[in-house]
Amino acid sequence: MKSNIGHVNNCYGCGVCASSCPKHIIEINFNAKGFYEPKIQHEDACISCGICLNVCSYISDKIALDSNPIACYASWSNDADIRKICSSGGVGFEIAKHLVNRGYKVVGVKYNAVSNRAVHYIADTYDELRASVGSKYIQSFTTDAFMNIDKKKKYLVTGTPCQIDSFRRYIQKFKCNDNFVLIDFFCHGVPSMHLWDKYSKNIQKVIGEIVSVSWRNKINDWHDSYNLLMKGEKACIFHRYSQGDLFFKMFLNNSCLGTACYTHCKYKGASSSADIRIGDLWGKTYEKDEKGISGVVTFTETGEDILHQLNCHHVKSSWEIVAEGQLHHKLKKPLSHGFVCWLLKTNIPLKLIYYFVQFTRLPYLLKCKLKI
Ligand SMILES: Cc1cc2nc3c(=O)[nH]c(=O)nc-3n(C[C@H](O)[C@H](O)[C@H](O)COP(=O)(O)OP(=O)(O)OC[C@H]3O[C@@H](n4cnc5c(N)ncnc54)[C@H](O)[C@@H]3O)c2cc1C
Ligand code: SF4
Ligand code: SF4
Repeated sequence: MKSNIGHVNNCYGCGVCASSCPKHIIEINFNAKGFYEPKIQHEDACISCGICLNVCSYISDKIALDSNPIACYASWSNDADIRKICSSGGVGFEIAKHLVNRGYKVVGVKYNAVSNRAVHYIADTYDELRASVGSKYIQSFTTDAFMNIDKKKKYLVTGTPCQIDSFRRYIQKFKCNDNFVLIDFFCHGVPSMHLWDKYSKNIQKVIGEIVSVSWRNKINDWHDSYNLLMKGEKACIFHRYSQGDLFFKMFLNNSCLGTACYTHCKYKGASSSADIRIGDLWGKTYEKDEKGISGVVTFTETGEDILHQLNCHHVKSSWEIVAEGQLHHKLKKPLSHGFVCWLLKTNIPLKLIYYFVQFTRLPYLLKCKLKI
């Protein structure tokens, strides 16, 4: 058996192996639980170069750029319109806008209505950048965009911390670090695509073919912005987590996150390979703010320099303030994880699956209640 990525299962699904294989023989497809995973298509064509293993952050115990935070900030865009459309304070978008204006290309995530998937894409202009605004709370497919990156040009690349850690390995391997700025975020995890498929199929019965989706919306207040606004050919829906939306209930009860999110996530707290980490600053300091505040952590001088050139307001803050409310350790994999991912593939209504999950969580929920 050849030594390549073919023997790796239940990984982060970051896709960097597929975009860096010189023989183009690695495909990224969904595994049985609904998460991206690499597969070697033509084992005979493998030249055992080892590149796919070198760039893989899942099989390494270490993080590619293990630097300590330089500084932490509570930040927001000075542009009220940008702040309104972004998930938190709009700092992610301000960084992208700033770099696009300086000739960088931006690799971000947009929703593709035809495939009903989140995909990484390359934006060259401000107008193209707009599709990257807002968090898409499903796993994104990176390979097509990463494969089209020209290592000699300048890029900003955004993604989950595991995607960014593999991408950092990739640019270290090909010695082109200086052409790239990397951003990740505090990451809760990604849910099984079976959840999204089941949920969106039900919604399509009401609104017709989906035209657009927004997972975060400040139509109400920022603290009530976990909601789904879906436009279809026939109608629109607006479902809020605070009013029982089942996609967010299943995502945030941690019952069907990626296997690697529970077993191998090395990126909680301040562990990152990015130049800048962003997130929602949900803590007590800004609990009355309803416009959105980004928690920002810089890890490199490049990140620190860029941050201070933006059209943003920054309040230098402690790590405790900026990271309050974030997960600091990986979550424990629920015993029912495989079964729940399987249930999501069946015709059983999502509401019943949710009740089942809540039943299995009863001891935990009771423990939380008794603590109050
Ligand atoms: C799956 C997921 C889990 C998250 N978990 C947390 C968390 O636990 N705590 C927290 O504080 N913040 C979390 N975030 C980040 C948060 O939702 C905001 O994106 C962040 O606060 C930045 O907001 P913004 O206003 O600066 O910009 P926004 O405009 O909201 O920026 C969104 C950025 O995220 C990128 N992006 C969007 N969807 C995806 C995706 N599916 N995969 C990779 N990149 C994507 C876009 O390219 C863009 O650069 C998560 C985001 C995602 C996608
Ligand atoms: S070892 Fe090289 S050729 Fe073989 S799959 Fe990995 S990257 Fe491709
Ligand atoms: S929780 Fe960790 S492993 Fe899961 S998507 Fe986020 S960074 Fe990757």
